Amino acid sequence: MIHESPAFYQAIADRLPLPSKAFIDGSFVAAKSGAVIETVNPATGQVLAAVAHCQTEDVEHAVAAARRAFRSGVWSRVAPEARKAVLLRFAELIRANSTELAVLESLDSGKPIRDCLKEIAIEVPDTFQWYAELIDKSFGKVAPTGEQACAMILREPIGVVAAVLPWNFPLLMAAWKLAPALASGCSVLVKPAEQTSMSILRLAELAAEAGIPAGVLNILPGLGETAGQAIGRHGDIDAVSFTGSTEVGRLFLRYAADSNLKSIGLEMGGKSPFIVLDDAELSPEMIDNAVMAAFWNGGQNCSANMRQIVDRSRQEEFLDRVVERAKALVIGAPLDPATELGPLITREHRRRVLDYVESGSREGARAALSGAAFDSNAPGSFLGPTVFADLVPGMTIAREEIFGPVLGVMPVDGIEHALTIANGSEYGLHATVYTRDIDRALFMARRLACGTVAVNGFTEGDLKTPFGGYKRSGSLARDKGTEAMAQYLQTKTIWISLGDAYASIPG
Ligand code: NDP
Repeated sequence: MIHESPAFYQAIADRLPLPSKAFIDGSFVAAKSGAVIETVNPATGQVLAAVAHCQTEDVEHAVAAARRAFRSGVWSRVAPEARKAVLLRFAELIRANSTELAVLESLDSGKPIRDCLKEIAIEVPDTFQWYAELIDKSFGKVAPTGEQACAMILREPIGVVAAVLPWNFPLLMAAWKLAPALASGCSVLVKPAEQTSMSILRLAELAAEAGIPAGVLNILPGLGETAGQAIGRHGDIDAVSFTGSTEVGRLFLRYAADSNLKSIGLEMGGKSPFIVLDDAELSPEMIDNAVMAAFWNGGQNCSANMRQIVDRSRQEEFLDRVVERAKALVIGAPLDPATELGPLITREHRRRVLDYVESGSREGARAALSGAAFDSNAPGSFLGPTVFADLVPGMTIAREEIFGPVLGVMPVDGIEHALTIANGSEYGLHATVYTRDIDRALFMARRLACGTVAVNGFTEGDLKTPFGGYKRSGSLARDKGTEAMAQYLQTKTIWISLGDAYASIPG
């Protein structure tokens, strides 16, 4: 339940201890060098805390602990029921501490508290619970053979894995990777984004309290070029699951090629379409969906539907209603439960987004709503929503991922044109289609080159459905659903040759 008063959350923020140390081999420790990184509250621009800056030697320490734990079998080889019990306890502890975790994450990331609560009180613990419950229901296979053999196909934990995380959904992305990795029996290192390590460090305390053994879970706050690169190049990490930009995803493939050919799972950027065919009903719910598809989390969302591809006959009506709804978005302090749009992650990121807004105007898009005027001198990194119309495919804002509250409407002429424009992107993460015709809906859903298609509603699915991208949005790896387990398990065949001494016996 969401408490209505900002003072309620502020009071929690005022008394919360802020984590500052890395979590390695079951203990909170400073970086070996003693270095720290300052993390800033995006709503105020003030330094929130100084956090351990882990580097190569800390990664070495954590990998050694993780490998030791994996080899010992203390987690990797215990009975499935035992791992399940610990992860169920972990889920309960997260639920019990979710308000504090949500406040911590809101302070650190600038995300509105209402979104943090939804993610951390519900989605994060549900994810741990779902994978916990899967542990003792996942069977191997027996292959068909003649009587002279028995062939078993087993799935075994891959070993030591690393989750390299973005800043836009800090604990949720951690849960999407940690829950299936831990359920598989792997030992895990987590490298949170440099801006957002608070909530995941607090999570480590709860993991220890739940009974996850020392070394099985290690949290390494640090920079991409230091801790991130040391993870990517480490010779004793078996797999990396990464969420972030396509540019850094490419680096992880390079690190793997230069080191031990570790397995790399990639979930990266997007420029997803929201397609409105000429028969779509522009209901208030549909307009809400269009606005949230673009502006949820301030547009800092890899599956944000920023190319809104609308049949030309409906563009002006759609535009007017989207602009009206976007103007009503409540922008404000992240700890106010009424806030729908908080600050962007940093001032630098805000500058980057504003550069895109300027390029839109320069390249001829029509500004139907400008967010640039929103309190631009206020502290922090707030930015209001911008809506452009009359986008054409070649424009920079029609091609590149902006990762901020900048929506572009592109008029099209008919279903074939809509499909061509939608698929004309180097990305392929998500798409939404609005139509009242089931034939058109399924035609579009099948032909759209992306990992998730939502029909008549904006959604990424739920924790049972896999999430990941086609083209430059991802590798074959998927987060969520049973598919996520594939990133953390490897397949073994055991072929037992049997004698034929009894082959002639009937019955
Ligand atoms: P990055 O891809 O730079 O960061 C993601 C993670 O990778 C972070 O933990 C980061 O560490 C780490 N990393 C960064 N550089 C390296 C490196 N050289 N070697 C190893 N690890 C590295 O995303 P950003 O946070 O910088 O955001 C940039 C853009 O990426 C966004 O504007 C957006 O377009 C896209 N993005 C997409 C996300 C998604 O959900 N798919 C999420 C976040 C960003 P550090 O924090 O220190 O940089």
